[in-house]
Amino acid sequence: MEYEGQICRAPMERSSFMLPIMVGCSYNRCRFCNLFRHLKYRELSLEQIKGELTRVKAVGGKPRRIFLGDGNAFAQDNERLTEILKMIRQYFPECEEINMDATVTSIRRRTDAELEAFCRLGVRHLYLGIESGLDDVLAFMEKDHDQGQAYEAIERLHQAGMIYDAHIMTGVAGKGRGTENAHALAEFLNRTRPAHVVNFSMFLHKEVPLYQNILDGSFVPSSEKENLEEERCLIERITADLLYDGFHDYIEFRVRGRLPKDREKMLAHLDKQIEETPEAEVYSYVQGECPALERCDGRSVWQNV
Ligand code: SF4
Repeated sequence: MEYEGQICRAPMERSSFMLPIMVGCSYNRCRFCNLFRHLKYRELSLEQIKGELTRVKAVGGKPRRIFLGDGNAFAQDNERLTEILKMIRQYFPECEEINMDATVTSIRRRTDAELEAFCRLGVRHLYLGIESGLDDVLAFMEKDHDQGQAYEAIERLHQAGMIYDAHIMTGVAGKGRGTENAHALAEFLNRTRPAHVVNFSMFLHKEVPLYQNILDGSFVPSSEKENLEEERCLIERITADLLYDGFHDYIEFRVRGRLPKDREKMLAHLDKQIEETPEAEVYSYVQGECPALERCDGRSVWQNV
């Protein structure tokens, strides 16, 4: 398939067959996100999707796990998503699970019966951009949910038989608020019990709306060291049984394991990195299009604007 977008997915989906059903993100408003800003959102035709299924089947593909892209694929309307799921079952009856990104709103606008029907058609993991445990941060970042709505949506998703996984983002609350965010997020995760938590620690990207907030002082970013300390505080407080995977790509650091079992090992790994990360402020300034992001020198970025 000729495809102009990029499918961004959690590490657990790396071995899945990636099936694009749209280009871009239908929401595309989160202030920190540059994944699909340069793309005009559009749905791929059912003919194009069928063509890709035919191609994969013709080369002997028998995927057991399929990930639908791009961003927020669960927001497709009921009829179209149902049609796509039925097509997948027809081509690949051996497929055990169909997973995708979702927003809280894309769950809330569905009835319980509709959610159950999607589960029967093979939908299993929904990856939700939870990001922060603080309502004012969610509002500032223009996420499409608050904590109360997320609690309710996740409860209904679980009742329908699906699995929820959380994307979070250390640094999202800004300078001096990492501990507060970690406490709130730990409480949220302990209550909602995701199967996986993926922390894509925040990039400070020049081409997103948040950049203007940084310039006008309405958002003061946290340093990479603060982000690591926030993550330490979070991991210390998670009591739910879950797989945790944390990425700080700017400083090429990753911490992962099963919580609470691997907590001490993970904290020791973090402590070493915190110690090695200089006090001199290191910020995750980047520019360019995902996934080919370029690192910027923080000082020159801010002096040249
Ligand atoms: S974070 Fe997710 S929902 Fe928000 S704009 Fe980016 S892809 Fe869309």
